[in-house]
Amino acid sequence: MMLYELENNMALSIHNMESETNMAEQKTKISAWKVIKYQMKVITDMKKWYVFIIYIMYMLLSGLLPITTVWFPRHIIDAIYNGSLTQMSFYTIWFCISATILAVGSFLLEGYAIGNFLEMRLEQYSIYHRKYKDVSFQYLENPDFIAQRSSAMRTLSNNDEGFQGTYTLIFRLLPEIVSIIGFVIILGTFKPVIIFVAIGTAIIQYLITVHSKKMSFRERENLAEAERKANYFYEIGHDFNYGKDIRLNQMSEKLQELHKSKSSVFTLLFGKIKKHEYKMGLFDLVFSLLTNGLAYFWVITAYFQGDITLGQLSMTIWAIIAISYKLQQAGDKIAKIKVATDFTGEFLRFMNNEAYFPVNGSIINKLHPFQIELKNVCFKYPGTDKYVLNHLNLKIDAKEKLALVGLNGSGKTTLVKLLCGFYQPTEGEIIINDQKLADFNLEKYRDQIAVVFQDTNIYAASIIENITGENADKHHNLLALSALEKVGLAEKIATFPEAENKQLLKVIDPEGTEFSGGEIQKLAMARALYKGDTGLVILDEPTASLDAIAERDLYQKFETLISGRTAIMISHRLASTRFCDKIAYLANGIVKEYGTHDELMNMQDGSYRHMFLVQGKYYREEGNLCETTENA
Ligand code: ADP
Repeated sequence: MMLYELENNMALSIHNMESETNMAEQKTKISAWKVIKYQMKVITDMKKWYVFIIYIMYMLLSGLLPITTVWFPRHIIDAIYNGSLTQMSFYTIWFCISATILAVGSFLLEGYAIGNFLEMRLEQYSIYHRKYKDVSFQYLENPDFIAQRSSAMRTLSNNDEGFQGTYTLIFRLLPEIVSIIGFVIILGTFKPVIIFVAIGTAIIQYLITVHSKKMSFRERENLAEAERKANYFYEIGHDFNYGKDIRLNQMSEKLQELHKSKSSVFTLLFGKIKKHEYKMGLFDLVFSLLTNGLAYFWVITAYFQGDITLGQLSMTIWAIIAISYKLQQAGDKIAKIKVATDFTGEFLRFMNNEAYFPVNGSIINKLHPFQIELKNVCFKYPGTDKYVLNHLNLKIDAKEKLALVGLNGSGKTTLVKLLCGFYQPTEGEIIINDQKLADFNLEKYRDQIAVVFQDTNIYAASIIENITGENADKHHNLLALSALEKVGLAEKIATFPEAENKQLLKVIDPEGTEFSGGEIQKLAMARALYKGDTGLVILDEPTASLDAIAERDLYQKFETLISGRTAIMISHRLASTRFCDKIAYLANGIVKEYGTHDELMNMQDGSYRHMFLVQGKYYREEGNLCETTENA
């Protein structure tokens, strides 16, 4: 099924739901009925019409089965009582045939249905993953967002509860309704009051179940939060990237202690919920014993008074047992559906939160040449008060090469993150080719920029897959190989028998290789080159882990590779800004100095000039030191 279509449908249906309920902001609960409507729509969106037919067939087959097991034995017992062998054989044969057909049919349908329900749940994961990459960056480290996400995702976490649970529960509930109707008819002919007792009992049992499950829903966010905190300490304790730090700074015991203390919060809360559920379960048991006892008393009295036959006695007793069981089961399922839809409602609300998943703009223009204008841009990170960028104005002409320089923490990387659309300016605007960046379709926009950040993530996949992503065709593999060659990784690759198919990291493949910091930076460069002739190239300290010679080689290559494109380069090594047309020196959230290298060097009290001279001196001193050492 086309994911886009599903996603749009989902957004639409939820949007309708939300607007109906006046949004009462994102806090309004989505009702069980709306969730079920959405889930039924998922079936039609996935073109699985036959699932409805399976529902109906299962409802009939599985619903009639318990009735046959009560109805036929009544006639068999009466035939034995009356000494009629023919009648007994007749009812026994038909009992066997019908029970077998109904049981086998139900069994087969059930297996088929569960497989389909699973597919529908997994489809929701795909929708979530597709949407998740558009989450505004600011939320990724926001604890509220993380807790809400983890709470929302619970609905997709297993087969029996939440989203998939609702399908299964409705599937199992429908036959129970058919059975209950059958038993009502059977009991109604004997003593109608039994039906009221049974229904009254079932309603009370339903209320008990709802009450017992309410607590787990009420505490869901606290539970998710406690689990997240406990997991954090467990996970970093096992994270390879923390390995060196933990060993050198003896952090292991501290982490274990923190994990234990956070886990105990989770365990306590979980225990409290379970205790509540057990208490309610006990109450439920005592209550049903009492009401069933009363019904048996009536039937047995009727038999001894000669009002009913032995067969009818047996049938009525079984019908009482069955109806109260079925009513209790149906009540239990309705209560569970209520809880499951509450969880799914959370998921839908989360997925429909426009703040988390901003609606993508519609502009998908080709951006080559690429012109940028920052107008009065202010920005502070969520949860902080300090403005990192403060009314910043800057224009980067098409095909211009701009060097962004400034002290650590002056906001260079932040500016790049804003240009990538990861964060939105707190104030002001970013204009790309005369249109607001906010109006662009971010996915298409990001396809048109190549960025090399100072910190790069590599994946436990082959070297080539780390460039292309998976399932690339031959043509794309060739492009990736050429990119790897251009950044100087070809020699390294040639050292592996598997060449470019050598796996990186040891998480998946124990024979996987680890790249050095410099090699990882080269890999990041190759990814940028692989993107092709993008209108904008951004290099954020791409050579910090490279030695001086590798750095020079790479810049020389890049100079030719980025010609004809707009480029922004951040580098601490000011000498590498020489191939830039303009230099912007950032300080206190604004562009403090702007011009060509020569213009800035001519500003006697200029910060850039000062920085350049200090760095030049350092390099000269370092050079002298090397010479002295060599001469010695
Ligand atoms: P530069 O690239 O010039 O070294 P950055 O843009 O990385 O500077 O950082 C600018 C300021 O923003 C710094 O004070 C940094 O501490 C702060 N900062 C960076 N990332 C975050 C974040 N995710 N949350 C809060 N503050 C941040």
